[in-house]
Amino acid sequence: MSTAIAGPEIERLIQLLARLPGLGPRSARRAALHLIKRREQLLVPLASAMQTAIEKITVCRTCGNIDTQNPCTICADPRRDPSVIVVVADVGDLWALERARVINARYHVLGGTLSPLDGVGPQDLAIEALVTRAHASDVGEVIIALNATVDGQTTAYYITDLIADAGVKVTRLAHGVPVGGELDYLDEGTLSAAIRQRTPF
Ligand code: ZN
Repeated sequence: MSTAIAGPEIERLIQLLARLPGLGPRSARRAALHLIKRREQLLVPLASAMQTAIEKITVCRTCGNIDTQNPCTICADPRRDPSVIVVVADVGDLWALERARVINARYHVLGGTLSPLDGVGPQDLAIEALVTRAHASDVGEVIIALNATVDGQTTAYYITDLIADAGVKVTRLAHGVPVGGELDYLDEGTLSAAIRQRTPF
């Protein structure tokens, strides 16, 4: 048990920061102190940015991406190739692929992967919407960019079955993705190689 060394407001800030990925209690304490010391330059603008995010952030009704506009910036961008849909499990994977700047396509965020053990079934994911999109006449390829985990691959096979009659090419990432690997943790070079050398499903 850790003892409180500051007032409840500060302790609360530390506790919340400690829930962020990559931050434990010690680094949360350090981050809190850093924010408090830079009240005007950092704490106030951060609080205001968070407030704006709460008010404006929305989920794209087309692809499931998170943005402040609907359709999202990517779906609304006319320079994006509308014939290719990249299927990802989470928004974090979409961001990782965008960071790697490897493909100028549109996305479809499933919201997870099928996981019978955790009780995640097809109805919990945006699979039906994907099937509808894959059947649209302007779509020619669906790239399945799911993690190389058992759940990721199960989901990939499930989707491939459902869109088999859509007349689209279905491809998956090349073997650059390590088995059990999560996209979000891959470096940009590996990700971009995995997309470029994608293979037919
Ligand atoms: Zn979108």
